[in-house]
Amino acid sequence: MKKENIVERKTDLVADWQALIRTFIMPDNDAAKTRLVKYMEQILFGLHDFLKKHVGITEETSLKELSQRFSNSLINENPEKRLADVITDLIEDIAPHAVNVASPYFVGHMTSAIPFFMVHLKTIVAALNQNVVKLETSKVLSVLERQVLAKIHRLIYRESDEFYDKHIQNHKTTLGCFVEDGTLANISALWVARNSMLGPKAGFEGIEKEGLINAYKVYGIERAVVLVSRLGHFSLRKSGGLLGIGNQNIIGIDVDENNRIDLKALKKTIREIKHSSRKTMIFAIIGIAGTTETGAIDPLRRLAEISAENKIHFHVDAVWGGPTLLSEKYRHLLDGISLADSVTIDGHKQFYMPMSCGMVYFKDPTIMDAVIYHANYVNRPGSVDLGIKSLAGSREANSLILDSSIKIMGSKGYALLLEHGIETARNFAEEIKNRPNFQLITAPELNILTYRICPLHLQQELSKAKSEQRNVINARLNTINRQIQILQREAGKSFVSRTTLKIRNKSEENEENIVVLRCVIMNPMTNMEILNEILDEQEEIYQKHFGGLK
Ligand SMILES: *Cc1c(COP(=O)(O)O)cnc(C)c1O
Repeated sequence: MKKENIVERKTDLVADWQALIRTFIMPDNDAAKTRLVKYMEQILFGLHDFLKKHVGITEETSLKELSQRFSNSLINENPEKRLADVITDLIEDIAPHAVNVASPYFVGHMTSAIPFFMVHLKTIVAALNQNVVKLETSKVLSVLERQVLAKIHRLIYRESDEFYDKHIQNHKTTLGCFVEDGTLANISALWVARNSMLGPKAGFEGIEKEGLINAYKVYGIERAVVLVSRLGHFSLRKSGGLLGIGNQNIIGIDVDENNRIDLKALKKTIREIKHSSRKTMIFAIIGIAGTTETGAIDPLRRLAEISAENKIHFHVDAVWGGPTLLSEKYRHLLDGISLADSVTIDGHKQFYMPMSCGMVYFKDPTIMDAVIYHANYVNRPGSVDLGIKSLAGSREANSLILDSSIKIMGSKGYALLLEHGIETARNFAEEIKNRPNFQLITAPELNILTYRICPLHLQQELSKAKSEQRNVINARLNTINRQIQILQREAGKSFVSRTTLKIRNKSEENEENIVVLRCVIMNPMTNMEILNEILDEQEEIYQKHFGGLK
């Protein structure tokens, strides 16, 4: 169904004062009230029905066609539509072309189904429209936010009752901060790390005030670097750019065969930096608790020890894997996280919250003083305003959603979700191993795994082949797997993602670029039956398009 282009659409609607005022006053007659409730009903259920129909990105309406439909840059002087029509349009015309991330067949990305009550909670956040930048526009929500921060801080650091009694509502200290997303959370953590490593000293007022050049001069260095496994999220390189140290100074360390940071390589790099003629400060070492591509967890405890020995800020990017701490059964996978100076976690990933909710936590409740800012009209020195130590200015009271959902789910409810993801991923890996047309590339440590189509006879050939031959076979397999992922996506029934991993060849000392299919299991409705269907479909596509491959 193609709608009229709205470019020059004329209606009898006019923008006048009376009409305007009506949009600010809740109607008090029953008919109008019923209508508004009906709209909300349409949003909850109408959207739900429409979203159910497709999975992933279908080519039914191409991106090109959609782009043409949305190419009007004019703003009408008078209203184009009434609220009712806008809502109907959104439900009938926009939603069907969105991506059904809630489908149990959508297993390719870190965005998934959310419990339906999240929509209610998000609506309350919008209706209250509090701004947590300052107490004067948020009051109880600033206090509530501090409570949620303490709950998650406790999950990570397990400090004593006395510690939390002292800091939970103490406006002189801070346990962490809500930000928009994982990217801003990582940037915040490294901002704090940079400022505390290059802080004020005799004759110097600190890097935040005097800038990089003076800081380097005073500290007698030519550069500052951060060390992280080369599987670090690209938000870390962004931080390097923003913080002025240069993104080439976010140094990627090699990984071992399990995709964890190679500790030998890390120590070697630290030694080289120390003995380098270029005076260099390592201001942070980062451990990843769940890499974006494979879900691998770095040896956090060892990284903490190495950081402590060298007096370096230790940051853990637990943006993905952090909530695993809620599972008694699997929290040991993150052993050592409590030694981190800072930890980042996303609410909109494994806390199953709607977009966007990033969080950063600090072991030392005073360390955020390194990024304190005041203004005359808000956030005055000594005030309770959360905006004093936050990268964002105005922001929504998302902590209300997290606080409520923790109450609704309990840690056990979350644990069930997380355990389902981890265990389903493990069963899925077994199934992949049992199918002769598939090869498991990275086994799941959490709920992410990668694999590819690679028929048994090619697996055997690869294990015997010399590197030149291997390259030829792998190049062919890369093309096939790339195609299979695209064809499956376009068929619109299921969706897995795709990435390219550098895999070290065991027999020889070189690395190969392998295109893999990537699965993220984070929907409680995704089960082995569905995953088998997804593999069947990939096998069918393979047979149909590449069946002659020998
Ligand atoms: C997703 C992710 C990020 C970035 O989070 P956004 O919310 O997308 O900005 C950072 N680190 C890791 C490990 C991630 O998985």
